[in-house]
Amino acid sequence: MSDLPVPLPLDVDQIKGFLDPGEGAALQRAALAGSRLGGCLEIGAYCGKSAIYIGAACQSRGAVLFSVDHHRGSEENQPGWTYHDPELWDHQAAAMDTLPHLRRNLRAAGLEETVIPIVGRSAQVAAHWGGRLGFLFIDGGHTMEAALGDYRGWTPHLAAGGLLAIHDVFPDPADGGRPPFEIYQRALVSDLFIEVESVKSLRVLRRL
Ligand code: SAH
Ligand code: MG
Repeated sequence: MSDLPVPLPLDVDQIKGFLDPGEGAALQRAALAGSRLGGCLEIGAYCGKSAIYIGAACQSRGAVLFSVDHHRGSEENQPGWTYHDPELWDHQAAAMDTLPHLRRNLRAAGLEETVIPIVGRSAQVAAHWGGRLGFLFIDGGHTMEAALGDYRGWTPHLAAGGLLAIHDVFPDPADGGRPPFEIYQRALVSDLFIEVESVKSLRVLRRL
């Protein structure tokens, strides 16, 4: 991990999640730049993989990362779906629960004072949000409703010059679902954003 802008305090490969190290490095660059303009926020914590990359960058600048997730998993994480992990099942709740894993991983990474988990549905949290953001990472649900809710709910809070990162952008539908690609396209045609970086399925856009 020596090519990361900010080295990680633990072996991030042990953490369950869906992020490539090259994407993690791009998120760190974007968070380092964006945190100068406002707060940092991600939608989609899962077990904390992206939060550890971004959180390490925030910690190095004395900034914080708000990490929003209802922790009940996306559609594809539910039993019977491709990305279901039975180790993340809460039998008492009869539902997924990734929050204990997030907390454990943030503690192991020494990021409990830097990454602030917000447990709730993205659109509902966004409706009550008041702070200005300099960095926003959308990596939440992949239904059109969830992705559009993230885009519409959170991008108005992004400062001019702030950075918007979107994960799971697949231009070829054969590679994955379309909603993240569709909000990426929406951002570009809105004339409010220009693309500044592209790594695997991650796109980084700057708000004009
Ligand atoms: N960033 C993580 C992966 C996130 S996976 C990593 O680096 O590993 C997507 C997450 O989005 C899941 O944990 C799911 O619970 C959450 N999610 C899906 N729809 C959501 C919504 N509408 N509001 C809040 N969280 C949501
Ligand atoms: Mg993702």
